[in-house]
Amino acid sequence: MPVDYTDDNGDRVKHCIGCKETHLVKEFYEHYNGIGYKPRCRTCNKAELRELNARRAKKRRQSSHKLTKRHVDWIREQQGKLSTREVAKKFSKRFFNMKLNSSTVSRIYSGKIHKEPGTEDTMSIYDLLEGASDFTGSVEQYIESTDLKKIKF
Ligand SMILES: [Zn+2]
Repeated sequence: MPVDYTDDNGDRVKHCIGCKETHLVKEFYEHYNGIGYKPRCRTCNKAELRELNARRAKKRRQSSHKLTKRHVDWIREQQGKLSTREVAKKFSKRFFNMKLNSSTVSRIYSGKIHKEPGTEDTMSIYDLLEGASDFTGSVEQYIESTDLKKIKF
């Protein structure tokens, strides 16, 4: 790794492995360990970070497909049969190379994501209307029989 040195003008300089140019050391970030400077100048360092972030974001986008109910149901069926890692592996074979993280599997198992609507959850206005068509009493009776706090409009 190039180190910093004093040039002919008496300035403390360093060669950047990114742009291959020599800059004053103040153009470099100091190393975390406090000894010397980072191998890339500030400009190159920022560009590198930006690129790294873009790559990570792309990877994240590729791996976070929207799971449908069919996927989630299938994943739930595997609970207790396979490890989360095995489920993730089997999943991509079964669903045409869709990538699934084993941590996604465990979050589904623990109910953190894709939670199944239980009785404690709210009911949609559509469910309410559907229920009304099956109800034989009056509208008032129907409303009275429904816990309105649970309705999600
Ligand atoms: Zn540079």
